[in-house]
Amino acid sequence: MRLLLAEDDRMIGDSVHQGLCQDGFVVDWVRDGLEAELALETIEYDGLLLDLGLPRKDGIAILKALRARGDTVPVLILTARDAVANRIEGLDQGADDYIVKPFDLDELTARIRAVLRRRSGRAQAIIQYGALMLDPSTHQAIFNSKPVALSRYEFALLEVLASRPGLVFSRDQLEQKLYGWGQETESNTVEVYIHKLRKKFGVGIIRNIHGVGYTMTKPA
Ligand code: CA
Repeated sequence: MRLLLAEDDRMIGDSVHQGLCQDGFVVDWVRDGLEAELALETIEYDGLLLDLGLPRKDGIAILKALRARGDTVPVLILTARDAVANRIEGLDQGADDYIVKPFDLDELTARIRAVLRRRSGRAQAIIQYGALMLDPSTHQAIFNSKPVALSRYEFALLEVLASRPGLVFSRDQLEQKLYGWGQETESNTVEVYIHKLRKKFGVGIIRNIHGVGYTMTKPA
């Protein structure tokens, strides 16, 4: 899952960026409001972590513009303890949740997972797809009641596809979800991971829609 972190405080940004990457998220970090807008226009993020007090354009203005153009990306506001009015405004302007600084990184990732889960229409924490179960909090995969070892990218790819069965993702979209800015990618990495996943879970688990992309069909 790829997230945009808009935070100008270097220490907070650094620790959030590091913590989320360790937790398997792909995170792009911007330090001002205009950079955030540019990133949001170029890349389809799974979530936005938005500091309200940003240089050049503040978080509320970014949020308003985002919702005004119909962008439904989940937004989690990072806010100061005394900024109650800002939090309320943020929620009223379409933010999905907020967290008060200083916050615990584990709580932040739990809130992000909750927001992502609601957005994909799931109430339960575990992603279930037929005989396959994925736990986004531990990155464990169970298939036919047995644990299956997956690399970070294999899990990430499977999580994207299994969270939205029936939706077809192009190779570019999948690549965007696996890699952040500045990360080297080889041209056929998505195909390589799909090949590995099919070996582990059966050829039929991921369908190739010719000329369009990849999908996990809705289980009957
Ligand atoms: Ca700030």
